[in-house]
Amino acid sequence: MKDNVPHLPPDNHTHTLLCKHAKGKPADYVRGAIHAGVSEIACTDHCPTDDGFGIGHRMALDQFPMYCDWVAEARAASKTVRVLFGIEADYYRGCEKFLRGFYEQHDFDIILGSVHFLDYWCDTQFGRGFTGAPDPVQVWTDYFQLVAEMADAKLYDVVSHFDLPKRFGNKINRETFRDLALPALDKIAAAGMCIELNTSGVNHPHKEYYPAFDILKWSAERGVGLVFGSDAHEPERVGDRFVAAMATARAAGFTHFQRFEKRKRTAVAL
Ligand SMILES: [Zn+2]
Ligand SMILES: [Zn+2]
Repeated sequence: MKDNVPHLPPDNHTHTLLCKHAKGKPADYVRGAIHAGVSEIACTDHCPTDDGFGIGHRMALDQFPMYCDWVAEARAASKTVRVLFGIEADYYRGCEKFLRGFYEQHDFDIILGSVHFLDYWCDTQFGRGFTGAPDPVQVWTDYFQLVAEMADAKLYDVVSHFDLPKRFGNKINRETFRDLALPALDKIAAAGMCIELNTSGVNHPHKEYYPAFDILKWSAERGVGLVFGSDAHEPERVGDRFVAAMATARAAGFTHFQRFEKRKRTAVAL
């Protein structure tokens, strides 16, 4: 660990080449963690599906055993960095039955929950582009409806990148945004889920974390637990901007972050 870096929280969000838009294997991310001074990472590549949903940006179901082996090998080989076995699972209508059975078969440490797609709004990163997106208020209305449904599904430990649609613009006024976001955030709180401070947003056009500072404040007020994630798609980004992110979290009112193991969390002073 670097001498000049304060003790950093776990990086709970990393990917692998299996998702088709990231580089490296878990062992490479462990090396990234050592370089960054991060002592714990969660491998959270995109969860496979049984129905072909989003197959362009996730491992196939029959590749999952290989992912498990990679994580286990990285964990066994790592002397200094603790390696968690996790997954980033999409929420979409109809996903619950498969996920419930899948979770029972695997001993995950942490499950991130994400809404990446609406019917008409997609992540351009994956080459599908916008398909008839309505106005921004409709985008946020539909998006937060799905986030609320995700919380109600009670299948996830953490909500990732809570305000992801800002990646594609979708600017609306603050009051309207608050009115749409808070019901979803209340559901996250009621479900006992944590919120992720995801530093990857700084590299996106809006140049700010996911979520925006307002949402971090509202989360702290509601007692929602906090985790940090780089959403690294390359090993060099593990722990990216975590020192600044810790200061932001404190300014938003958080006094603790959460550590996960076997889907149970422990609060650690921030
Ligand atoms: Zn994601
Ligand atoms: Zn991710």
